[in-house]
Amino acid sequence: MELLSLVVPCYNEEENIEDFYEEAMKQEPFFAEKHIAMELLYVDDGSTDHTAERVRALHEKDKRVRLISFSRNFGKEAAIFAGLSKSRGGIVVLLDCDLQDPPSLLPQMYTLMCEEGCESVATRRVSRKGEPPIRSFFARRFYHLINRMSDTEIVDGARDYRMMSRRFVDAILSLEEINRFSKGIFSWVGFETRWLEYENVERRKGETKWSFWKLFRYAIEGIVGFSTAPLAFASFMGVFFCILAFLLIIFTIVRAAIFGDKTSGWPSLVCIISLISGVQLFCLGIVGQYLAKTYMEVKKRPIFIVKDEI
Ligand code: UDP
Ligand code: MG
Repeated sequence: MELLSLVVPCYNEEENIEDFYEEAMKQEPFFAEKHIAMELLYVDDGSTDHTAERVRALHEKDKRVRLISFSRNFGKEAAIFAGLSKSRGGIVVLLDCDLQDPPSLLPQMYTLMCEEGCESVATRRVSRKGEPPIRSFFARRFYHLINRMSDTEIVDGARDYRMMSRRFVDAILSLEEINRFSKGIFSWVGFETRWLEYENVERRKGETKWSFWKLFRYAIEGIVGFSTAPLAFASFMGVFFCILAFLLIIFTIVRAAIFGDKTSGWPSLVCIISLISGVQLFCLGIVGQYLAKTYMEVKKRPIFIVKDEI
């Protein structure tokens, strides 16, 4: 019998654990008919509420429910990595606990995967209905920017909700970087991927775990992880200002030779100095971002630490 693993990252999702279980198990008859068993792997990302207890209670009722608990909050990316590496199924699905990734799409995803013979079926929401407009605006800008800067295609509106073959999962796990950006990694590993589109669904219960700043840092993660264009931009700015300075020097010399030097231009000098030092610090900051990420990678710390596992 084949095994289908559902990997579910959870961070303070106590109200959603049972709802998710029920929704997911509604799909069971479809898979049972195809001789596919299911396992539900909840990854408790260091929750401070009763998430782990709720999963434990489910495990008592149904042994197909598994749990990995982290020693602290390592972030969704670490939870995804842990879930994928501990999953046992030949087919693995990654989905959120808040039911924003409707399990009712599972049969359709499976059918698509079999019919098309592809290694992964990904989902994309066609609308951002129900999301704060500012968040949508910055999300759109981010996708536009990163796709211009990176060779890896990052699809706007793509969810992390995805069905994958074992081969695809192993390919993802072979990327052991700590600064993980799954949306890029999924695309980077290649293989045939089919896209399934659906209308945005709002979170069932509780609140989003992503603040604006958390998302902003995640966006920087994506850019630094999948593009070196900002480094080239820093060099470009350097060359640009060198040429500008050179032209200014010539201009100043010629002007002094013709009209004499009346020591004017003090304010404009201050402006130029502050502009150029601003640009220098900005470029230094870009280099710093890459250096910091490299530093973290070189340490080779584990991506997550398990406290408990059932
Ligand atoms: N999540 C996690 N660790 C975190 C933040 C979030 O495992 O540090 C999980 C969360 O429990 C949920 C999924 O990631 O199952 C998506 O998070 P959320 O719904 O808050 O994000 P949104 O859907 O608003 O983008
Ligand atoms: Mg959500």
